Amino acid sequence: MTTPLESLPAPSVTPAEYGDALTKFLRTDPRVEPYLGYRPESFEEAASHLRGVQRLLCEEGWARLGWPERFGGLGGDPRLRAAMFECLWNADIVIPEPYSLLEVLVPVLMIYAPELAREHFLPLLRGEENWCEGFSEPDAGSDLASLRTRMEPDGAGWRVTGQKIWTSNGHLSRRSVLLARSGEPGHRGLSMVLIDLDQPGVEVRPIRTESGEQHFSEMFFDGAWLPGDRVIGRLGQGWEIAMYMLQWERGAYGWLQQGRLHNRLGLALSAAADGAGERTGVARALGSAYAAAAALRMRTRNTVERLARDETLGPEVAIDKLLLVDAEVATWDVVRELYGPSFDVEPDLEWLRAEFLFSRAAPIYGGSQEIQRTLVAERVLGMPRTR
Ligand SMILES: Cc1cc2nc3c(=O)[nH]c(=O)nc-3n(C[C@H](O)[C@H](O)[C@H](O)COP(=O)(O)OP(=O)(O)OC[C@H]3O[C@@H](n4cnc5c(N)ncnc54)[C@H](O)[C@@H]3O)c2cc1C
Repeated sequence: MTTPLESLPAPSVTPAEYGDALTKFLRTDPRVEPYLGYRPESFEEAASHLRGVQRLLCEEGWARLGWPERFGGLGGDPRLRAAMFECLWNADIVIPEPYSLLEVLVPVLMIYAPELAREHFLPLLRGEENWCEGFSEPDAGSDLASLRTRMEPDGAGWRVTGQKIWTSNGHLSRRSVLLARSGEPGHRGLSMVLIDLDQPGVEVRPIRTESGEQHFSEMFFDGAWLPGDRVIGRLGQGWEIAMYMLQWERGAYGWLQQGRLHNRLGLALSAAADGAGERTGVARALGSAYAAAAALRMRTRNTVERLARDETLGPEVAIDKLLLVDAEVATWDVVRELYGPSFDVEPDLEWLRAEFLFSRAAPIYGGSQEIQRTLVAERVLGMPRTR
């Protein structure tokens, strides 16, 4: 009898071959059934339900392909990970939220904190643990280098004191990657660390958003304990690592989002209220949204391929974020139009309404669009600096 891993394609498989094999698995394995066409009831319910598909994909080996063997992966082309996401949205499976963070964080840990990557990669991939990113503070968002959460030496580790805000998944996470001040003012005094949230001295308060969801949290640290081996990279290297992390945030994250947008456009088209697609305004908006989503797809595909070749990306990744903003906003405007008046009231569309409202945050999260435009102007086009 073959074990699940023996039935997998070899790591030398191409993304297209891997995609065919995974699609077959998703169509035929009865354990996948609860996830096909699943519609979340809430952020928390989705997190709990989708942990099952995350575990299944990891245990069967699909999610481990494309990650290096030395950390617990099964090796192979990193683009296999992007192919897995494509198979999931093609099968109308909601992509588990933790995959976004994995794609952003794990490549960074593999370089700057390989011991932590070895210890935590598989529990994260399996969905046994969830982590979050605690960077922003009430007075430090765009101006992140002014953050005030501080870490002070104490015996074999540090004590962390301060406040973070807008931490996605904070209340569902066991640990947080944190930017904290370990030295002088400004970006050189920052370190990146991994802190446990389930300990005295830490309070995590969910924030309720306009959609009624609890997507993010505030986190309060009052002398919380940070063991000595939890610094990612070197002390004072936090800013450099955060900047390196950004390129991963643009790559796989943008790729994941464009897949979701194409999927939602497809759903809206098939559910379109009678004649909606024939109204000139709607047809034009639909064309623009599709063009924006297609531009994002082409751009992020290129970014994912560059990352897979180990290229270091520069400030041009700001363009990926700007394309994401355009695609997200245009897509959701037209999705709402296509569903017609039922979009705002139909109980079964609650999950889509939550996504619609979340789309309004695209110009802000992960670096606001104004900041991205300045980056493109100054660092890509070489225009005079404003500051
Ligand atoms: C849905 C969502 C999820 C998030 N998840 C996380 C997370 O998981 N972890 C985390 O740490 N943070 C997270 N954030 C926070 C996010 O990174 C910040 O909101 C963002 O960086 C902007 O910072 P701010 O809110 O302090 O706004 P500010 O920096 O105060 O900006 C307010 C406005 O002023 C503009 N502005 C500011 N400075 C300039 C400038 N120099 N030039 C031109 N315009 C400027 C901005 O573009 C913006 O429009 C999330 C935010 C959202 C909306």
